[in-house]
Amino acid sequence: MSSKKIFAANWKLHKNPAQTREFFKNFLSEASKSLFASSNSESEIYFFPSAISLEATSQSLKDSPVKFGSQNCYSLSQGAFTGEISAQVVKDIGGHSVLIGHSERRKIFNEVDQLIADKVAHVQSLGLTPLFCIGETLEERESNKVKQVLETQIRMGLSKADSTKSLIVAYEPVWAIGTGKIASSAQVKETHQLVYDLLKSVSFEKSAILYGGSVKPDNSKELLQIPHVDGFLVGGASLEPLSFMAIVRS
Ligand code: PEP
Repeated sequence: MSSKKIFAANWKLHKNPAQTREFFKNFLSEASKSLFASSNSESEIYFFPSAISLEATSQSLKDSPVKFGSQNCYSLSQGAFTGEISAQVVKDIGGHSVLIGHSERRKIFNEVDQLIADKVAHVQSLGLTPLFCIGETLEERESNKVKQVLETQIRMGLSKADSTKSLIVAYEPVWAIGTGKIASSAQVKETHQLVYDLLKSVSFEKSAILYGGSVKPDNSKELLQIPHVDGFLVGGASLEPLSFMAIVRS
């Protein structure tokens, strides 16, 4: 894993194309003051807007080092799949990545590990980077099933993936997403070590491991010091240019 820290913004179902353009106007003007000033920037930034704002994102980020992708895709590029997103089209408009297996996809849209494995492999086959999300529920944590759950998600979700190709992992405890409840530093430290060991057991130890779950400017600096925390996947705090910029600066 390179020493670059990765900051990824998941906008979920927020921001129309006009709001997207407005966000990037402000964000890029702020970023150009400091972040992009050095040619050897220590961070990599990704935005995951909702599907209809992907085109506006692509146009807004055209001349910048900031990357983007979709929040989901189907496991095939085209065909009779009403309502789905094509990773090939994400690539065609300049995208670099696709979020796969976010807990909201797993829970609300019943995505199972098998489908997630197909999507990860498909995204890699196109030369894009899957941002593969894993994490346990509160009930699973309280019944001491964290290792079992993460091991299953990793083993099954990466069963068709290629460890020589690019892949980023986001560990997001489901109970910390959008709740304002942040995992303690001790929990993050212990679980990121576990995720690293599990990834190593399937030859994916080179993948960056992001933490996600109520990351805010006031907790990001401390979390970033923890071993095997290579950056963040940020939901709520990425919707405002200045709060996301403050997290990137941490
Ligand atoms: C997320 O949606 O991946 C997330 C981490 O959200 P939040 O930062 O709002 O908890």
